[in-house]
Amino acid sequence: MFLDKYSALTIHQHQCSLMTSEGELLDLSIEQAIEKIGKEPAVFVIHSPVTYRKLHTPKNINPHGWFDLLELAAFIYPTKSFGFTPQSMAQALDIPCPEPVSADFLFTIIDHLVQHLQDKQRHFPSESLKAQGAALFYAQWKWAPLIIDVLNITLPIPFSQLQPNDSLKIWRKLPKWQDTPPRSPPRQQPLQRKETLQRLSELLGPQAETRMGQIDFADISRAAFAPRNHPDCPNVVLAEAGTGTGKTLGYMAPATLWSEQNEGTVWINTYTKHLQRQIEEEFTRLYPDPEIRKKHVIVRKGRENYLCLLNLEEHLNTFSQQQSRNKIALILLCRWAEETNDGDLFGGDLPNWFNDLFNERLLYQLAERRGECIHGACPHYQCCFVENSIHKAQDANIVIANHALVMQHISWHDNNDSVEQSNFPTRFIFDEAHHLLDATDSAYSVAFSLLETSELRRWLLGNEGNKTRSKGLKKRIHDVIIGDNKLERLLESILQATHRLPVLNWSSHFSTELDEHHIPDSNPTEYFFYLVYMQITARSQKNTSPVPVPEYYDQNECDLFPILPELKQQAAILSECFLQILTPLLQFIQTLEHKLKTDIDTLDKYSKDRIETTISSLQRRAVNPLSVWVDLLNLLDQPDQKQQEAQTHITFLKVEKTGTRILDIGIFHHWLDPTLPFMKTITNYAHGMILTSATLRDDSQHDTEVTWQAAEKRVGTPHLPFAPIRASLACPFNYTEQARVLIINDLNNLSINNLSHAFLNLFLASQGGALGLFTAIQRLKAVHQRIIQPLEEQNISLFAQHVDPINNNSLIELFKSEQNSCLLGTDAMRDGINIPGNSLRLVVFEKMPWPRPDILHRERRKYFYPENPNFYDEQLVRLRLRQAFGRLIRTQSDRGIFVILDRRTPTRMLSAFPSDVPIARISLQDAIASIREFF
Ligand code: SF4
Repeated sequence: MFLDKYSALTIHQHQCSLMTSEGELLDLSIEQAIEKIGKEPAVFVIHSPVTYRKLHTPKNINPHGWFDLLELAAFIYPTKSFGFTPQSMAQALDIPCPEPVSADFLFTIIDHLVQHLQDKQRHFPSESLKAQGAALFYAQWKWAPLIIDVLNITLPIPFSQLQPNDSLKIWRKLPKWQDTPPRSPPRQQPLQRKETLQRLSELLGPQAETRMGQIDFADISRAAFAPRNHPDCPNVVLAEAGTGTGKTLGYMAPATLWSEQNEGTVWINTYTKHLQRQIEEEFTRLYPDPEIRKKHVIVRKGRENYLCLLNLEEHLNTFSQQQSRNKIALILLCRWAEETNDGDLFGGDLPNWFNDLFNERLLYQLAERRGECIHGACPHYQCCFVENSIHKAQDANIVIANHALVMQHISWHDNNDSVEQSNFPTRFIFDEAHHLLDATDSAYSVAFSLLETSELRRWLLGNEGNKTRSKGLKKRIHDVIIGDNKLERLLESILQATHRLPVLNWSSHFSTELDEHHIPDSNPTEYFFYLVYMQITARSQKNTSPVPVPEYYDQNECDLFPILPELKQQAAILSECFLQILTPLLQFIQTLEHKLKTDIDTLDKYSKDRIETTISSLQRRAVNPLSVWVDLLNLLDQPDQKQQEAQTHITFLKVEKTGTRILDIGIFHHWLDPTLPFMKTITNYAHGMILTSATLRDDSQHDTEVTWQAAEKRVGTPHLPFAPIRASLACPFNYTEQARVLIINDLNNLSINNLSHAFLNLFLASQGGALGLFTAIQRLKAVHQRIIQPLEEQNISLFAQHVDPINNNSLIELFKSEQNSCLLGTDAMRDGINIPGNSLRLVVFEKMPWPRPDILHRERRKYFYPENPNFYDEQLVRLRLRQAFGRLIRTQSDRGIFVILDRRTPTRMLSAFPSDVPIARISLQDAIASIREFF
């Protein structure tokens, strides 16, 4: 039988367990396991890239020959996440797991998976499942013989079934959404205190401890749900709720109650996907039945996160030309798409590790990332995952979204340009509100660059020779306008003029070293950006430091003014070129609009949908950016002095490169305070908002009013017509008992060797369970290289962002599952992770997280604090330290130590930490002793 011929391998904390094909169960060291596995014909493992990495990536072993249990699980339970360990797989399958677990247990897991598949086929026989199994067989999937056997599939399969068949055309089986009438406006009844607190206790359950901070939070949050008393003046609550307050349930109580009583929708918005998922999980308390929960609570993300069925169909059309691994991935994705809750490819119910096991570009190719959506004209429109989530959100009580989506939503609504216009929500909660400045900065800034302009060329002209569905405007609309001379002429003019935008492979025309013999002057846009690069190179500073330093020391930007004369000249030429695209584009849109009106009776629904979609996407994808770019080019032509006087924006030039490759060159235009346009716009819609975070106020000032004013400046509430209600809710932790902060005062952290020595010994002192945070990727990599071996010799695994070939979520899973492992990371690890318990007990900060001293920062610090710009920097550092410290203690039973390896840490930065946490400046040696003693 299939399973008899194979061996199985598990690795835990550098100890390997191997079940050989001879039936011997061996405990081996890494070296012994490598030797043995080399002789085994095929090995069962869980997560092959991680297993291979744990074996120190030996050259004589090919992990592609392994049988990964996660792939088998993906076929049988497509939407279930299994973790990476035998224990987590056992838990997911609800089977007992022996302790300690050895490699033979993998056979038990396979038995259970197979049993489930057999039961499923017995009770719900599915020809489609069989056909998918057969397709996997011909795609040479290693598990396919087992599936063929279990599902009783007769071979050979008829030729007709070898083609991508109905079993893969899953859109035929997906439910179709139906248009529903727009929802009536919500009632405006205020919330009663008693009912709100009653809802909170329902959410908490009978066993929960009473947290006064949480009760106060729920109570005060009611104010955001009160009826609005003046037009454009929302009721706003600004609440700082420290870690452990229980703020999520604190705002969920009034939000769910208001939505039920008033039949309206509340949008809860986060900055990180991680928190979005955490909030979604919290709703199981109120709606334990998944079907009811799905109706009331919808998670919404940007379109680029969802599987586009038209992209999937296109990939299936070229199925026979795909490589074997891609074929397997596509079939498994079809299995998943049939069962997924929402079609979210990144962070939904597609397991995290999918990207680790297959070509990671595939998911990006299948998502709706190229702006090619044809909306109502798409044959899959009515079962489209994106459209489905939009429609469901209209009737949901709660929409869990993110900051960026709200901003996009408002902008679409303002442009009167989307199906999402109806039922615009009136109540918003912004969790992680300390990120509002970053989110608004991304939403309201303008990038005029090689990447953006070449992307517009691709969108208008298609991939020019490449076979993918990047069709370009002509293919998208030509059959609808055929025979209309005016429209055809205008379309030709647009496409002709578009050739002035950079080609897709523009990077082959650029080099990091300016070369006067290879000036890209055959294309006016490329030449313009060549001159931009020339100005940057002439005016920026090169990093000449011999040691790895933060990337920002290699300045890759410069001020726009004064402008190189050649650049100014080229700007005028380019502005003309862009107008030659823009003018026929606007006429094309007007003519289409006219056609819609005059031919209303003769146009079929399909053509009408195509025309409407084309108008709105042309406006959003082409007219809007081109208009902004023309304005920017005209700005370059203005007298320098006039520009310098601008008070609200900053414009600068920047190049992004890696090694000798240029990634982008552009002109960037930012609001100095991007919360201003956001707050001005959202007040048109919002009746109530809660802005909340664990890190709103910087407590360096003793004057409470000053700390609140600074917090308000960062989130933009000074731009509201009325002041918000402020609330600060106490954290329930006893930091004196639970935590320590140690600042190492005898380390030269500029030396990578010293830094590595410190990390190594601190990690050894805590016996793992440590997170190392870096401000620069290069330094992280240099330290990782030096400490991985000595740590592993002590049976402590080290994982690292930017080093290990697995995604961040998988890394965090791994770190959590191996309790004594260590993890190195940068910003993403500092802000978004939640690891309660003993897996994280030590955080080591490499140096003070000073903000990147770039042009944008230079102007912002002066703008926000003209009298004392340093205060802006210091406040940012304190809030970052506070965020990082917040990762350490998540529950009342957590204990942890926070170490800063920067002897120059100013005392005024220490107010970042809770006032009751003991802080000491000590030598590295004493810190090591102190850590040993504390744990
Ligand atoms: S409607 Fe758009 S996103 Fe949805 S399947 Fe069609 S093209 Fe893709």
